Amino acid sequence: MTGPGNPPTMVNGFDNARLDQLPEEQRAAVARRNRVLGPVYRLFYADPVEIVRGAGTYLYDSTGNEYLDAYNNVPCVGHAHPRSADSVARQAATVNTNTRYLQPSVVDYAEDLLSTFPTPLSNIVFTCSGSEANDLALRVVRHVTGNSGIIVTANAYHGVTSAVAAISPSLGADSPLDICVRTIPAPDERAGPGALGDYLRAQIRSATADLARHGVGLAAFIADSVFSSDGVFSRPAGFLPPVIDEVHRAGGLYIADEVQSGFGRIGAGWWGFQRHGIAPDIVTIGKPMGNGLPIAAAVFDPDLLVDFGRKIRYFNTFGGNTVSVAAAQAVLDVIRDEELIENAARVGAQLKAGVEALTSGLDGVAQVRGDGLFIGVELVTGDRPDPDTAAGVVNELRRRRVLISASGPHGNVLKIRPPMAFRSADADRFLTEFEAALTPLR
Ligand code: PMP
Repeated sequence: MTGPGNPPTMVNGFDNARLDQLPEEQRAAVARRNRVLGPVYRLFYADPVEIVRGAGTYLYDSTGNEYLDAYNNVPCVGHAHPRSADSVARQAATVNTNTRYLQPSVVDYAEDLLSTFPTPLSNIVFTCSGSEANDLALRVVRHVTGNSGIIVTANAYHGVTSAVAAISPSLGADSPLDICVRTIPAPDERAGPGALGDYLRAQIRSATADLARHGVGLAAFIADSVFSSDGVFSRPAGFLPPVIDEVHRAGGLYIADEVQSGFGRIGAGWWGFQRHGIAPDIVTIGKPMGNGLPIAAAVFDPDLLVDFGRKIRYFNTFGGNTVSVAAAQAVLDVIRDEELIENAARVGAQLKAGVEALTSGLDGVAQVRGDGLFIGVELVTGDRPDPDTAAGVVNELRRRRVLISASGPHGNVLKIRPPMAFRSADADRFLTEFEAALTPLR
């Protein structure tokens, strides 16, 4: 899938070198888009999809074709969910303002959301994106510890601002990392000898020793709780406590990046870190939080904010605006009322068992990983990653109007991550099409 217009930093990207192979109307639409949006954007799929409407777990193109959405985590309660849409429309027709005014709905939401976190995580700061939440978390950990060292996993992604791009190795060799960043391997049980937690603890120890040799203290370890860009790693539950213990011993803080794993996606409580039985110092959240409206946040142990708040303050113009908060409140309400965390556990187990059954015995499938509604399928040829077959499966599913994508450092891990409203019948339909798309591996 890599080509001149499609560097390896984007998995499942449309390759502009193949523009001429598209039907005329589609080619014109892509060329027109390229003229104004320029070279920084990517489209999904060899045959890009135009979306005009969504409902629940389905998306529709301009000719009325229906696509099963097994990829989008942002519309977590479902595309165009009526409660979410009504809540946004009503608030937009009333007032939309910012956190410099007293607004009960913002405080109601903050209290409601914070009740899902363990103590002492009881202060929330709103932002517009996961990137901004991580950016703020970095500022706070550096302020509190007086250190600048950050440890991330080998193919981590934490966002787009200068500061968080500089701690995101997945952006590729041309996107410079901060000189104070060190990486540890992804939590892959096959990576080292012995228990995974002990192996990773030793990795943290050598990373902090290397930082110290360069005169840099540890500010924080930040990790996506489901390690999505590393290739989806959720098991065994409990590998993180030794890692975090080592981070704390070195004087660093632990930031759980829950932008991917949050709001019940893993099907075990609200937050991905809970599976590991640990309490982070800071949690960052985003993507599904507003079902598509831009809202994200960083959640803190209040002690960490005392000095930062006194000396620096933080105002984010659109962060916590009234309309986005209305969208976010609807998400919380629907997740509870429609029991979507239980649904993620139940339908996720059905989906994973189905994927395991369809891939068992296939030489090209190294592992099926993940929990809840976040599943990764690692494709290989012999002992090498196989991104070409992964791209083939993704595009064949797209031809069959089922949307997924791929992830991992080599783009060889199928990423199945549907809206949380994915039901048992959706899983059945997915598995039928998935079986057909696997034909080249048989
Ligand atoms: N952290 C993780 C783990 C992410 O996956 C992402 C987005 N893909 C971000 C942070 C950045 O979030 P946003 O795109 O909302 O800035």
